[in-house]
Amino acid sequence: MRDYNKVIDRLEKVEHHYTIIGTVHTYPVYRFSLKSPAANPNNILITGGIHGDEPAGVEAVLQFLERDVTILQEQFSFTVIPCINPYGYVHNTRENQDGIDINRSFETNDVHEVAIVQEAVDNMQFLFTIDFHEDYEAKGFYLYEGKHDEQYIGPGIANTVKTIGPIDSDDSGEDTTEIVQGVYKVASKWGTQGLAPYLLHYHSEHVLITETPTEWSLQQRTNLHLGVLDAALEHYYEDN
Ligand SMILES: [Zn+2]
Repeated sequence: MRDYNKVIDRLEKVEHHYTIIGTVHTYPVYRFSLKSPAANPNNILITGGIHGDEPAGVEAVLQFLERDVTILQEQFSFTVIPCINPYGYVHNTRENQDGIDINRSFETNDVHEVAIVQEAVDNMQFLFTIDFHEDYEAKGFYLYEGKHDEQYIGPGIANTVKTIGPIDSDDSGEDTTEIVQGVYKVASKWGTQGLAPYLLHYHSEHVLITETPTEWSLQQRTNLHLGVLDAALEHYYEDN
């Protein structure tokens, strides 16, 4: 059992504004809004913990919220949902309490956690979104990327963050198209069952999914997730 109260304690110390967007089996689900003072900021969505047995994603979101992001906020507004599946996080299960994989359930709003997320992003449009995941079998990291204009930045990002740890050399085995080794397309045949494909269809021009190998240390996995996020933000940050 993992202690969600430790997550809550850290979230409550973060200085940014938050809303409790729902409650799942007594566990509150948080959404942070880090608003930019700019007139037309670009919106970024960061999510973790949709699979409860992938804790590095939650840790990465926590460490992002604990940083000073004042400079980034000059251009970006961030919407952050640290832990979509708190029941799974506590019980170390991929699925929610009903045994449902939330990340295969976005084609309806029948699943409580799905409805919470759908409502939390309703009417929002994002420049890009990133969803943090883990893989028990992988030996290295890999990414999925979906981008409407197909000008993929994943290959450059993978090249940057491989200083943190190696790229996984196996193909992902899930009927995906490889862009380069370790970077796969979010496939249109997935429909909108998953969070990232759902966001790509309705809310975003660009989505990234990061996958880290569970055998790395928690901090190495966290560094990889945040390294990908930082590289994507650097890509979009406009120097003037
Ligand atoms: Zn996952």
